[in-house]
Amino acid sequence: MVISGIVIVGGGICGLATALALHRKGYESLVVERADSLRTSGADTISVYTNGWRALDQLGVGKDLRETALFLCGVRDISLDRGSRRETSLNGEEFRVLNKGDIIRTLANNLPPNTIRFGIDIVDVELDPITSDPVLQLRDGNVIKAKVVIGCDGVESVVAKWLRLKATKLLPYCGVRGFTNYPNGHDLGNEILRLSGDQATLSRTPIDDKLVYWLLTRKWTPQDSRDSKDTRLIRDSTLKYIKDFPEEVIEMINNSELGSLTLHRMRFHTPWDLLIGNFRKGKVTVAGDAMHVMIPLLGQSASLGLEDSIVLARCLDQEIYKLAGPEESRRKQVMQENKNVEAAFDRYVKERRMRLLKISTQSYLTGLLQMTSSSMVKIGLLLLLLILFGKSISHAKYDCGRL
Ligand SMILES: Cc1cc2nc3c(=O)[nH]c(=O)nc-3n(C[C@H](O)[C@H](O)[C@H](O)COP(=O)(O)OP(=O)(O)OC[C@H]3O[C@@H](n4cnc5c(N)ncnc54)[C@H](O)[C@@H]3O)c2cc1C
Repeated sequence: MVISGIVIVGGGICGLATALALHRKGYESLVVERADSLRTSGADTISVYTNGWRALDQLGVGKDLRETALFLCGVRDISLDRGSRRETSLNGEEFRVLNKGDIIRTLANNLPPNTIRFGIDIVDVELDPITSDPVLQLRDGNVIKAKVVIGCDGVESVVAKWLRLKATKLLPYCGVRGFTNYPNGHDLGNEILRLSGDQATLSRTPIDDKLVYWLLTRKWTPQDSRDSKDTRLIRDSTLKYIKDFPEEVIEMINNSELGSLTLHRMRFHTPWDLLIGNFRKGKVTVAGDAMHVMIPLLGQSASLGLEDSIVLARCLDQEIYKLAGPEESRRKQVMQENKNVEAAFDRYVKERRMRLLKISTQSYLTGLLQMTSSSMVKIGLLLLLLILFGKSISHAKYDCGRL
């Protein structure tokens, strides 16, 4: 049995960011991760807009991460069926795409030694019948007695299940992702290219001078369950969907790094699930994908997790401060005694709910817009999006505030 104070389940972006936000406020935590090491390989990238950079700056890692990622200035949309073209400026918003491994490594490097413990697979949560403190059950039969638990354990969160949050819904679409390296450099500029064909949409995003990230979205088929386990099959099936795409794009897929290819069916939480979800029970709460999974069309999912980490640490500190005042040792003591943690989590959930509701509604309506073939419905959805959200980039202006 291990006894610990704040335990964060999951060492992905949100779990590490939460540990770092708490550390910056002077609170220790333990991150327990089921994998044997940090997940820094694969073609996972994270698009970060102004709101996400604000959160990274509050965590103190924005400067380092900016050094490796290109500043992107716009999106060029080309419809291969209709021959139409559209160029959208990002209106001065800061937008860069980061290698997910780089964020994870940077967050982890800024944590105190021994904050992360690997190879710990949580299978359930219980409350101690006497103290009501959370007890984490491990797959190997051991338990961790915690004072506070923050579930950052992703889409299939054990903590969210224990909180009885609604499971994610599956979309009939999937995303295929990969990296292509251009050893002599590419000349693709600093814009995103989005090509829509009749069966698939492909976006191509330069990450740095040599590395390019691409994402193909298309209908999911039952065969994809098998293909997703073999990167050669992923590449070959992708080539079938882009037969009519320009030669340079086909070459990019052909030259992609096999080890980087992934194929995932898309999932999401509906806005009404986020509106009514009970995100706290006792001294247990959730953040990141464990709390909210968005249709990945606005490129905001990971940034929302970064925002969660800032708001959560701030709310905790503010509630502890009410009892302890400014003295650090007194605040640590109040935290040890678990006072005001529930009030802090309620405050955090209240602050996050409206932001999540707004952005999940925007991504939900944007998803419907992409999936419908009826022109009338398209016009209706476009009007609704315009009335509710104004400019499509408005989600990037959000400021989660200071840590
Ligand atoms: C096709 C696709 C495209 C996407 N594109 C973008 C994009 O452009 N921009 C963007 O911002 N986001 C994008 N996302 C989403 C983004 O990757 C996620 O929102 C983000 O990684 C979530 O971070 P997290 O830390 O909450 O969860 P995760 O990254 O899932 O981390 C959870 C961690 O918890 C660990 N864990 C899980 N269960 C347990 C357990 N029981 N015990 C111990 N450890 C556990 C896991 O091993 C993992 O390390 C995309 C997603 C998909 C599928």
